[in-house]
Amino acid sequence: MNHFPRKIGFTVYNEKPEDYFDYAFEHKLKHIEINLEKDYSELARFDKKRVRKINKLAKETNIKLSLHLPFSLDEANAFTFRKNPKILHLRESILLAKNIKATHIIAHIGRFEWYPVEHLSRRKALEKFVKFLLTVLDFCEENKVVICLENLIPVNESADHYLLGDKIDDFKFIFSQVESKFLKFCLDTGHANCGEGVLKFLFALQDKLDCIHYHDNNGLSDEHKQVGEGTVPWLNFAKKIIEIDFKGLFISECRNVEPHKSAELIREYFQQIKEHHH
Ligand SMILES: [Zn+2]
Repeated sequence: MNHFPRKIGFTVYNEKPEDYFDYAFEHKLKHIEINLEKDYSELARFDKKRVRKINKLAKETNIKLSLHLPFSLDEANAFTFRKNPKILHLRESILLAKNIKATHIIAHIGRFEWYPVEHLSRRKALEKFVKFLLTVLDFCEENKVVICLENLIPVNESADHYLLGDKIDDFKFIFSQVESKFLKFCLDTGHANCGEGVLKFLFALQDKLDCIHYHDNNGLSDEHKQVGEGTVPWLNFAKKIIEIDFKGLFISECRNVEPHKSAELIREYFQQIKEHHH
């Protein structure tokens, strides 16, 4: 059995990714996910010179990059083209992903008004989303950029909007409607732990699984805790990862801890399984 997981990285939020290559290299972390700022001010700062510098650093350290969109995809579909700057930002993000040779873009699907009947409203919103997604995917295909849709936490029942992508069935529906190698799934362990569960998500969507965001919580709120400090069943998660032979990327989204420590913790679960087998 090989050492799992092989590709571990972390997310960089509101900070320059350039500042993290040395750290990542030193700790054998293989990937940096760039979490773009909400107002997109960051996007304008990726000029040609900076992109060249980032590409050089990435090459020297053999570290790969990805982008995390700061808004959900359906927001880019909310108004007409000219009135909605988000569609432009989405296109710019896809081009930036291409230019920094990003392995993928992480995106959230969006939200929907559940009233008057949740499952019907949900389906309608998903159908609308799929139509829009196809246009986005055309642009992704042109630029050879993969989009990964990420699962989210189920929001409080008193909310007037619910989130798409908080249930396995949402993804099942989308993937049944869209067949593209530029559309994949990102499993967020913390979000799944507040919903139908990490193992169920893994089992149901393994065919489309491209990367994993990992962090922990108590199953009730999205705390982004360190690995092992919540109720995510890490050992069974690791077993399942081995069983489905997932060789993709693990990105730490644990907050307020050093990413290499989260990486050590997650590796320990895989190590336990390995030792058990010898
Ligand atoms: Zn995430």
